[in-house]
Formats: sequence, structure tokens, C-alpha cells
Amino acid sequence: MIEVGIESLGRSVLEPDGSGELRIAASRCPECGDVRFPRREFCVNDGLPNDPVQLAGTGVIYEAVFVGVPPGGFDEPFWAGYIDLDEGVRLFAQIARADGEDAPTHGQRVEMQLREIGVRPVLAPVFVNADGGRHA
Ligand SMILES: [Zn+2]
Repeated sequence: MIEVGIESLGRSVLEPDGSGELRIAASRCPECGDVRFPRREFCVNDGLPNDPVQLAGTGVIYEAVFVGVPPGGFDEPFWAGYIDLDEGVRLFAQIARADGEDAPTHGQRVEMQLREIGVRPVLAPVFVNADGGRHA
């Protein structure tokens, strides 16, 4: 299974936590607290060495769009958007909805699941409603 990041960065952006679950690999500056994804060796603010951290995979939708005409590598329409993670990182990812669930909305609470996306496929973070479809 190809994991997201292997072809674009030369390494997966996922890594196992203590229980073997895959998490998003990021970095945090021990001095100023700046969190970066993908992981960076040094802080962009003060040049100090960063600590490796793993992100919880929870946050809110900053913006979402429906991709009605799938781009190359995808065979069906999907929602995608920017997710503001609780640790302060914004990332772009697919957003999955359950059958009959409302369209994603700004500020909607979401959580990460790892799913195979695309026709090859690639294991990547996909965000789902964190409140079981009860968002307003
Ligand atoms: Zn720093």
C-alpha cells in the first residue's frame, strides 16, 4: 500500500503511534510552539531544532468544495477542503460524508480516518463528521 507523501516527499507523512495506529507526523518547536506539517527539522521562526510530534487528527473545516468532475487518478466525485487541526496546522484533504449527511460546513468538527483514495489507491487522511451527522 502506498501511503500519502511517499511519492511527493519521498517519505510517508504517516507514522505509527505507540499502539501501532497511524498518525500524522508533524513537528513542534520546543521554544515558540510552532507546529508544522509536513515535519520540518528546524523551526522557521527561530531556527531551533524541532521535536517530532504526532497530530490527533481532529479539527474543524475551514473551507470545503465539491469536486464534481474527478481529476486524473480519481474515478468518482468527492468533497475536499482545508481542515484546521487542533494543533494549529491547516491541511488539504478529502472530506467524506455518510449517505444522506448534509454538505460539509465551515467550522464543522471533523476527525481523521485513514482510507484508500484514488484509483491506484493511496492511503491518506480523510476527514469525517466528528459528531455523527448532527452538525447544524
Ligand atoms: Zn520556534
